[in-house]
Amino acid sequence: MKNFNFFIPTKIIFGKGRINELNENLPEKFNNIMIVTGKNSAKKSGALDKIKFLLKDKNLILFDKTEENPSFDILEKGRELAKKEKVEIIIGLGGGSPMDAAKGIALLTNNEGSMRDYMKGKTPSKDILPIVCIPTTSGTGSEVTPYAVFTDPENEDKGGYANTGLFPIFSIIDPELTYSMPETLIINTGIDALTHALEGYFSTKANILNDYLAIHSIEIITGNIKDAAKKDKSAMDRLSYASMVAGIVISNAGTLFLHAAGYPLTVYHKIPHGLANAILLPAFINFLKQKSNIKEKIEIIESIFEQVGGIESFLNELGIKTKLSAYNINKEELRIFVKKTIHKKNLLITPAKITEQDIYDFYESIL
Ligand code: NAP
Ligand code: FE
Repeated sequence: MKNFNFFIPTKIIFGKGRINELNENLPEKFNNIMIVTGKNSAKKSGALDKIKFLLKDKNLILFDKTEENPSFDILEKGRELAKKEKVEIIIGLGGGSPMDAAKGIALLTNNEGSMRDYMKGKTPSKDILPIVCIPTTSGTGSEVTPYAVFTDPENEDKGGYANTGLFPIFSIIDPELTYSMPETLIINTGIDALTHALEGYFSTKANILNDYLAIHSIEIITGNIKDAAKKDKSAMDRLSYASMVAGIVISNAGTLFLHAAGYPLTVYHKIPHGLANAILLPAFINFLKQKSNIKEKIEIIESIFEQVGGIESFLNELGIKTKLSAYNINKEELRIFVKKTIHKKNLLITPAKITEQDIYDFYESIL
């Protein structure tokens, strides 16, 4: 059997209503607490008010400027406020975007230089502030990962950054906080989680324990996403759980070529992250079928999809079109997408040798 490491230092607090346990889990020594959230949803759903009430005895610093697919600029604004207010701990409340922004601000508060420097290989010289995550979508798994994903508008690029210091000290996964999601958000984020579990399962860093969790997560998502999209609460609870499990899977095995190839769709066409992965998913499985040596694993995945009518019909029933032209993407852009994808580290743990031409052919096959 292959040797492996399995590392998740984040305390997981899972269950409906458990947001109420926020205060008792926060180390008492911290008083200046920054809450990083998005512009609207946490206010509209009441999640922010709830947290303000729970932490009424603390000095709360609110940063509610996070955009979708957070950029370096937002992190600079957050850092400025965090330094000024002498923030000691940062809570990310929202989808992957606010949770990742919280992670970026936690890194930058005590460390000089921009996030771009760190993504290019600079090592933080001082400690990253402690992070707490409270997801309100069921997709990214950021609440249990050492990753944060940022957009670089100047270079029209998007990519992930990894540092074990980005693991939250604890995360509260309270499915009730996801109940305000509209149907398309449930679907897009659910497919993001599904692709995390799939990519972690196919990764060259896969291991026996992680594979077990990946299959567990894939079965729950494929079996529940349709009901969840109809706002069936038990199905939504299961997606909250399964997306967290898929986060554990990528913490140990990473995401692959599929995620890297999806980023240009978001950068150039504003296609939501999960949907970008969904559009490319059938082509990615075909790609691995032709190029990789993991035939048995692919058969196992196909047999799971067969239980829900096969992968194409599973996605179509969720309203997802798997042709790039359906999203106004044309042939002329593909060379740019290739250039953005070829250098991503995700390719190094994909179980296939991938050339620029392979990436071009991959996109072109679903034009
Ligand atoms: P998101 O970008 O955080 O949010 C998308 C939209 O959903 C926003 O308009 C947000 O509104 C809204 N929203 C969030 N929660 C809601 C709720 N409960 N009810 C109604 N609306 C809600 O979406 P996401 O898919 O969760 O995160 C995507 C980001 O995470 C991408 O940048 C992706 O690359 C990254 N990601 C990170 C990891 C990781 O390990 N760190 C893994 C995969 C993906 P507000 O802005 O008003 O809140
Ligand atoms: Fe993702």
